Amino acid sequence: MIGYARMMLHKLTSNGCHARMREHLALERLPHDELRQRQFWLAATFLKHAYETVPYYRNVMDELGLRPEHVRSFAEYSKLPVLTREVMQERKADLVSSAMPRKVVAALRGMAEGCVPAQVPRDKAARDETQANWLLCLTFVGWTLADMVVRLYTSSGAEGGSLMQPGVREWLAGTLSVDVRTHSPEDMAKWVRAIRRCGKSYLLGNAWVMSDMADYLDRVGIRLGNVRGAVTPGGRASAEQRQRIMASFGCVVHDLYGCSEVPCIAMECTGGNLHLLAHSAYVEFEPDPWCGAPYVLVTDINNKAMPVIRFATGDRGVPVDGDCGCGRGFPLMRMVAAAETWFLTAEGRYLPGGDFAPQVARLCGGADVRMRQWAPGEVRVLVATGDAAAMERVEGFCRQAEGSAYPGLSFSVARGDDRMDVPVA
Ligand SMILES: [Zn+2]
Repeated sequence: MIGYARMMLHKLTSNGCHARMREHLALERLPHDELRQRQFWLAATFLKHAYETVPYYRNVMDELGLRPEHVRSFAEYSKLPVLTREVMQERKADLVSSAMPRKVVAALRGMAEGCVPAQVPRDKAARDETQANWLLCLTFVGWTLADMVVRLYTSSGAEGGSLMQPGVREWLAGTLSVDVRTHSPEDMAKWVRAIRRCGKSYLLGNAWVMSDMADYLDRVGIRLGNVRGAVTPGGRASAEQRQRIMASFGCVVHDLYGCSEVPCIAMECTGGNLHLLAHSAYVEFEPDPWCGAPYVLVTDINNKAMPVIRFATGDRGVPVDGDCGCGRGFPLMRMVAAAETWFLTAEGRYLPGGDFAPQVARLCGGADVRMRQWAPGEVRVLVATGDAAAMERVEGFCRQAEGSAYPGLSFSVARGDDRMDVPVA
């Protein structure tokens, strides 16, 4: 009954977040090409905004002789400079858009000056988008408009106080917000009582808070039974935390991949894949010149207050081809470890390097081996040995590898210099 009332209320009221969430839900069934075109249009419009109103972007693009109208494809987009955390820290005030009302610009610049690098001032539209994305991500674990969302929040700000008692208002709105900045056992006992009264509900919050809660539930021997799923934005839940939350709450736990600068990047589905939230963020996989795992760069296409374009997240990942068993059309990616070897083919596809380097090292008696991605499809293998016979064995191995395990790649073998940076001339 309450679920039905909630659903009707969501439909009748003009709640921006729900409307956006429904739009996004419709997008996930679009063909990839259409989604990509739409995404490019959004990114290009956003870039124009950045060039016209953000001093930092105007400077760097003018220096490169690039204008927004020159960027007509994602290939051209990739010529834009990468935004690092260091640059963000140094040029914070220059990254604020002048398009906001004057008072807001002053406040944002002040905020940007005073804030730690990870905090990016976000405008209302961007905050609404984040909320819409949270709802969208909750649908990945089974949430519907009829169900309750219990939001465990840890950041201060315009949260409107802590609502410990789900009253009629919270029930109808379908959201219970719980301030978890401090969590003593007494606090947790109160939260558990509040969550219990919520009926069928879904948790949204930090993995570490949830796992602390799970510990508490275990300690006092409580089984909630009404929590059906959990989404952990930001910090990825460790395997152990995930296990603990799943066991104590008796529900699935899915990660929403994001960082403080760009909160909603990709969402994990029941198939275990990460779906890129293409309507909100544009993700690029930048090759590591030394054939390590590709870098994840992200553009937040919503936050006009402080545009974050081609931001280096510090994470490594690769795109995943094909469709997901869950039926969602959002493109796929997966996170990979920085130490892994990845090659880029001439067609722009990433191939895992597996044990290529250790195999080459074995062929030349354990000598140092480094691989350099010279160009797409071209890899230089640098070996720290002067042994001609060993070099020949490596040559033979590379010829064979090109034809079998690594199609679309050509390897050239050279002796590395002392620092193994370049081939010996
Ligand atoms: Zn999926």
